[in-house]
Amino acid sequence: MKKGWTTVFLSLLLACFLSTGARAMEHDMLKVGLKYGSDAMYSANLQNYDNAGRGYAFGYYDSARSFVPLTATTESKISVSIDDNLFISGSSYYLSAATYSQYIGAYHLQLMQSYETYEEAAAVAANYDGGFVAFLIDRYAVRVNQYRTEEGVNRAFGEWAGADTVEIVSPSRTGVMVTVTGTDHILFYFDCGGLRSLGVQPLSADGEKPVTWFRGYRYYGGFEYQRVTGGNMNVINVVNIEDYTKGCVGWEIGNDKPLEAIKAQAVCARTYAAMQTRHRSQGFDVCSTDDCQVYRGVASANDLTDRAVDETAGKYLYYNGKYAEAYYYSCNGGASEDAKNVWGNELGYLKGKPDPYEAAVAPRIAKYNWSTTFTRAEIASKLAARSINIGTIKNVFVSEYTPNGNVYALTFVGSDGNKTVYREQCRTILGLRSMRFSVGSTEGDTYFVNDNATSVTGIQSLFTISGNGVVGQYSGSPADAYVITSGGTAKLQKDPSIVAADQEIFTVTGSGWGHNVGMSQWGATAMAEMGFDYQDILQFYYTGVTIE
Ligand SMILES: [Zn+2]
Repeated sequence: MKKGWTTVFLSLLLACFLSTGARAMEHDMLKVGLKYGSDAMYSANLQNYDNAGRGYAFGYYDSARSFVPLTATTESKISVSIDDNLFISGSSYYLSAATYSQYIGAYHLQLMQSYETYEEAAAVAANYDGGFVAFLIDRYAVRVNQYRTEEGVNRAFGEWAGADTVEIVSPSRTGVMVTVTGTDHILFYFDCGGLRSLGVQPLSADGEKPVTWFRGYRYYGGFEYQRVTGGNMNVINVVNIEDYTKGCVGWEIGNDKPLEAIKAQAVCARTYAAMQTRHRSQGFDVCSTDDCQVYRGVASANDLTDRAVDETAGKYLYYNGKYAEAYYYSCNGGASEDAKNVWGNELGYLKGKPDPYEAAVAPRIAKYNWSTTFTRAEIASKLAARSINIGTIKNVFVSEYTPNGNVYALTFVGSDGNKTVYREQCRTILGLRSMRFSVGSTEGDTYFVNDNATSVTGIQSLFTISGNGVVGQYSGSPADAYVITSGGTAKLQKDPSIVAADQEIFTVTGSGWGHNVGMSQWGATAMAEMGFDYQDILQFYYTGVTIE
């Protein structure tokens, strides 16, 4: 078959493009990955939302993320699909289908002539049944007819009058086509060899900000369809960071919280999005799940969240002149924690401190105080999942607390050895709700004295002698008791290497929910209800930051 020269040329350009690095983000437009990786799509539908949208412009986003329009449609329902054979059933396109109403073949004939403008090409395409315009990096071409096989397109090529005026084009690994949803009507074809990706910008009705349906959610902004890996398309929402923040705060703190708490959350969410770089190699800034921040377009936005974002527009959290990583969590259970004690990295503004505010709203927080039990076998299996095998579990205890009272080290005693885990692993290894907990057992703790020769289990075996010699039952905790020995007084000790009685059930009791680094969302709510403003809230939870 005759292979189109464009395919080779585009492949070379793609290779050049992929070797150049990522771009720095210093502008107001954010790229949010909606579908990517294993969720990348081969066909994606868009629909204008009610009266706030009238068709779409097709083009691309330049390096400054400004939209460069090439052409437009007044259709309100469009589909963007990869360049492949597509079978149409209802309003969906499939790569294969047992039953289908229509199909779009991926092989076409393309007129040899190039056109400088879309209008020129469109005027020529209109002369052919099924003719459509293709944008190819810096020129327009006209494609006609469609075939599902090489055989079919070869036959058509042979039958074409004046064969030197057309060439055959095969499916391109970087091409995408736009159709009227549910039809074989191709509105536009775009293939820049991965150098650029198709951008679709909804058009406005009467100056309103357009809103677009995608997969059951409504979005501000436009969309980008990246086929940089040659397979399915990453679908990306290209949206102003303020509109992104409006779509984000409701999911992250709730759209029914006090205004100043939502404003604090808005500054955190905006700052977090602006500084993220983890997804850059995938072609976007942030994803739309709680891996980054939950974002599903405008679904959770209301007048209150919009107001919170508008009243903090352009405000970011800084520490020493740089963006501060605005980590947050649901509630800390009594005290936040140093980043160093949770993740191991020292960050000056992520300092733990007692939280005097959360308690005021604790009765409204589900499972603020929590308790959970584990059998020895359950603990062994959780350890084994992390390749820790220490035999039968005999004891579990917190071996070190931070000065703020959060857990820093957790020790497991097994028949074949001991294992101590540190920092965030104390929470995650057992899947606990927070860093703030203690471990007890149904049989009571065992303490030792006299170099572990004598054990004391529970308080029933502890007695006190008062100043006048009266002996009575001790009523405090064994951990607070001192005993008199021949060498003076000694504190009762726990020795994990000697366990008097194996424990079958371990009870973990704690408070809070999350990693305890940065802002407590419930604490922010409590502060807002007490009359503090969003700057007070941020400056309490992030030590030494500025908001500007
Ligand atoms: Zn992410």
